Amino acid sequence: MTDSQSTERLLLQTLWDWLRCQHFHRSPFFPVFFSLTVHLSCCVPYICLDLLCLRLSFIRRFKIQPGSKVTWKMTKRCLCKIFYNHFCFIFPLSVLYWYWRPVPQPLLAPDVLSVLKDVLAFLLLFDTQYFLWHLLHHKVSWLYQIFHKEHHLFTSTFSLTTENTGAWEMLSLSFFTTLNVALLGCHPLTEMVLYVTHMYLSVEAHSGYEFPWSPHRLVPFGLYGGARHHDLHHLKFKVNYAPYFTHWDKLFGTLHRGKTQRKTET
Ligand SMILES: [Zn+2]
Ligand SMILES: [Zn+2]
Repeated sequence: MTDSQSTERLLLQTLWDWLRCQHFHRSPFFPVFFSLTVHLSCCVPYICLDLLCLRLSFIRRFKIQPGSKVTWKMTKRCLCKIFYNHFCFIFPLSVLYWYWRPVPQPLLAPDVLSVLKDVLAFLLLFDTQYFLWHLLHHKVSWLYQIFHKEHHLFTSTFSLTTENTGAWEMLSLSFFTTLNVALLGCHPLTEMVLYVTHMYLSVEAHSGYEFPWSPHRLVPFGLYGGARHHDLHHLKFKVNYAPYFTHWDKLFGTLHRGKTQRKTET
C-alpha cells in the first residue's frame, strides 16, 4: 500500500469511527434528514446563482437558456413538492426500511478504491434503470400523463426542478437507489458517499448552467451528458433520456447534442 493510499484509508477510518459513535446516524429519522439536507445543500449554490444572474450579466453567460428566469412562484412550488414528497413518502418508507434492515455497523471503513468502484457501478446501473423507465414513460402516453408530466412542468431547468416529481416517479427512483445499494453490498459509508455524488450529479444536470468545470466537460469522449444534455430533454421531450451517461441514448438513436435554443421569455 502506497503512502497516499494509507493516508486516504486513515481519513476514511477516522470519519467512519466518528460516524459510528453518533446516535443520529442510527436514528430512523436520519435517512430523511440526510436526503433532504444533501438535496437542498446541492441546490443552494445554484439558487444563489439564479438570484445573482438577474443583475450580473457575466453569470448569465453561463446559463444554458439565458432568457429564462427563476421566479419566487416557481421556487415555492418546487420547495412545497420536495417537502411534501419527503414527509409523506420518503419519511414513512425510510422508517419502515430502517426497522426491516437496520444500518450495519462494521468496524472497518471501506478502502478508497472500493468506494470509487461502487460509486461508478451504482451510477452505471442507475443510468440504465432510469433510461428504461424514462423511455417507457415517454413512449406510453398515459404513463407520461399520469406519472412523468409533473417533472416536465418547466421547459428550462433550474436546480429545484430535480425533485419536482410526482410520487410514483420519486418512489421509482428511490427504489432503484435502494436496490442498487443492496445489489452492490455497499458499506454504509460508501452508501453515503454514493448518495451525495448521485444527488450532486442530478442537481447539476438540472442546474441550467454550463461552466468550464462542469462534469460533462471533464469526462472525455462525450461519454457524460450533464446539464446541457438534460436541459435539452426538458426543452425537446423526445431526446436524451439517460440521466448521466450518453451510451444508451446513442444506442437507441435518441442522443441530441445540439445547442439549446436560446429562450427570450421573461
Ligand atoms: Zn422526461
Ligand atoms: Zn429532469
